[in-house]
Amino acid sequence: MHLKSLTVKGFKSFASATTMRLEPGITCVVGPNGSGKSNVVDAIAWVLGEQGAKALRGGKMEDVIFAGTAGRAPLGRAEVTLTIDNTDGALPIDYTEVSITRRMFRSGESEYEINGNGCRLLDIQELLSDSGIGREMHIIVGQGRLDSMLHAKPEDRRAFIEEAAGVLKHRKRKEKAIRKLDAMQVNLNRLTDLTAELR
Ligand code: ATP
Repeated sequence: MHLKSLTVKGFKSFASATTMRLEPGITCVVGPNGSGKSNVVDAIAWVLGEQGAKALRGGKMEDVIFAGTAGRAPLGRAEVTLTIDNTDGALPIDYTEVSITRRMFRSGESEYEINGNGCRLLDIQELLSDSGIGREMHIIVGQGRLDSMLHAKPEDRRAFIEEAAGVLKHRKRKEKAIRKLDAMQVNLNRLTDLTAELR
């Protein structure tokens, strides 16, 4: 599995539709200060469902929409599509290529698509949860975050590793199952009491 291409339109400094093709291996984005390198990384985090404006270096979520420049009017919506090569079947979906799209309007409304079909954010999170590209976005290490990861408490560092390894999802499911079992036990105890009273 590798990221194949990224298309941004109306997202931050990318007013016109711009497609970046990514090859397997390492990709470097080079450019002067303020030219939009970090905006490329923000676009990847955003299309994968990032919900925090702060994580995207903005004050509010609408800040991701192109705000206009001296020569160009602001736009009404931002759209990002990330295409992932899935020839190895790492994502649990019957397509060799998976395109994930997120669109957002100034009203704050967001739309998501998988291969052009409308879906919920939850569907995207479920699709990616075993791939190491999780909801907590530990795959994206921002400037200065490497230090905080190295200095993290052992249990926090364990959470990073578990998320990358896809263990977190199973731990969450286990916790949910234990809660259900506990509730069931309470009902069972009550039933036993009632049966004893009726005898
Ligand atoms: P550095 O090398 O300094 O870290 P960079 O290449 O990573 O810089 P970015 O931080 O990605 O640059 O881009 C900053 C630019 O994006 C600024 O010029 C800023 O005005 C522009 N920008 C951010 N949000 C928007 C927006 N909503 N509309 C228009 N331009 C935006």
